Amino acid sequence: MIEDEKLLLDVLNSAPRDGGEPLEYLHGQRGVALARAYGGSGDDPELRHLRIARDRLQDLIRGSETATKSLQALMSEASMRAEVTPHGVEWKLSAPPDVRLAARVLQAWSQVNEHLPGRLRACANTECNLYLIDHTRPGTAKWCSMATCGNRMKARAHAARTRNPKSRN
Ligand SMILES: [Zn+2]
Repeated sequence: MIEDEKLLLDVLNSAPRDGGEPLEYLHGQRGVALARAYGGSGDDPELRHLRIARDRLQDLIRGSETATKSLQALMSEASMRAEVTPHGVEWKLSAPPDVRLAARVLQAWSQVNEHLPGRLRACANTECNLYLIDHTRPGTAKWCSMATCGNRMKARAHAARTRNPKSRN
């Protein structure tokens, strides 16, 4: 498991869409709770940076490469700092307090791309705005969750086949 993989998914999945416009979880009490669960403060600037990181990462995952510009701006004051321990040098992410969590999200995204290339993807249900990191061996996971989108899409495909028995795929 990549460090902060859960943080990355929690942030990416903080604008779920159930049929209509996305909901906003990185806001108010819910946003504060999410940020604090990962050592953040949950104050407004921090949540704003998390929303930028989320929205632009979603753009990138969905194939819009222009999103790197805002992410570059977000990371402008982030750096890696060397910390010498008796066992070696550890590199720690360093960023202003209200950017730190967003920087960790970006760091985790980068690690996932490096170690699990192609495994971070959007749920195959186009009405869903959730994301998954595919840890299955064949790498064929398509749904944010089998219980919700997986079953829903299977039922829909079945209904389509029943209506039109000639198209079997
Ligand atoms: Zn889904």
